[in-house]
Amino acid sequence: MSIADSGAQPQSPDVASAAARRGALAMEAISISKDFRLPRGQILHAVRQVSFGLYRGAVVALVGESGSGKSTVARLLAGQEALTSGEIMLDGAPMDVSSHKAFRRYKSEVQLVFQDPFSSLNPVHTVSYHLERPLRLHQASGPGRAGRPGKEEIAALLQQVRLTPADQFLPKYPYELSGGQRQRVSFARALAARPSVLLADEPVSMLDVSIRLEMLGLLDELRRDFQLALLYITHDIASARYFADEILVMYAGEIVERGPAEELTQHPAHPYTQLLVASAPDPDNLGSTLRAGGQRDARPESAGLAATGCPFSPRCPLADDHCRREDPALLRVSPTRAAACWHLDIAAPEVLAGSQSRPDHGGVGT
Ligand code: SF4
Repeated sequence: MSIADSGAQPQSPDVASAAARRGALAMEAISISKDFRLPRGQILHAVRQVSFGLYRGAVVALVGESGSGKSTVARLLAGQEALTSGEIMLDGAPMDVSSHKAFRRYKSEVQLVFQDPFSSLNPVHTVSYHLERPLRLHQASGPGRAGRPGKEEIAALLQQVRLTPADQFLPKYPYELSGGQRQRVSFARALAARPSVLLADEPVSMLDVSIRLEMLGLLDELRRDFQLALLYITHDIASARYFADEILVMYAGEIVERGPAEELTQHPAHPYTQLLVASAPDPDNLGSTLRAGGQRDARPESAGLAATGCPFSPRCPLADDHCRREDPALLRVSPTRAAACWHLDIAAPEVLAGSQSRPDHGGVGT
């Protein structure tokens, strides 16, 4: 996040999403922003003009360090925070959470899974209760459905997340489950609503490193089987490369780079993305990266917040007066990639050289 009084805002360039080849557009964030007013009257621009799409059967990863605004984006998409500006579209229609009934309908379509499965499950209720309730709320009112969901329906949810035999798990309380089992219950609870969009906020970062790959594999199966449009929020760019179709790199509330997951991680253009990739223990061996517990903190000692100009300028080795004065817009560097940096010619000449259409703003190449 950043504290700023003014500054140029990144615009949404005409860039095709690498996730779009998987399926239809399910959800779209159009230039969404969220400001918070701080006690001393300052405005915190937590999210600044962020635009992207989520597509059925595809994974889009939102990558950034703690405080970058990525969880705020998830809460905005889930309808848990009001937008300051911008628009969110679901299946082509504007988000409607104006009434309790409309919010419930929206929540059926858009589910949020949290980082900490222990705090997101109620310790006084059983697994069976956690699954029966959303089934009843989201499905029992549908045509042809009546009353309480059957035990078979609840057991089927557990089977979908590989918690078997279901009979053993239904009467258990959260404290009787391992971290991985609790997160599987969280996934099953999200699926109970039969959503089209799943927002997964650091879904494996609190789990034991030995089961992270397995859990991402499960999420990938659920994406495929239910054609979910999946937003995977993480600080770990190595897991995003392994798991996502498209990566959006977020810094200080802005998208600073976006592109196909493999291409972006192999040839990062933005200096911040380069720092993230360089900080991953072994970018070519993601299994070992995940097992090693994700990437190290990419923040150097000089990390700070910018009041004007490029938000990354206090940490960027290429920063000059131009960077400190003006915030670069997110500009297209290829049909599927965009980056927000005045000095891509120095930071990533090979990306510019390989692009089919060069950016034409005055910052690049100056
Ligand atoms: Fe920002 Fe300048 Fe560094 Fe690019 S070179 S990331 S514009 S500080």
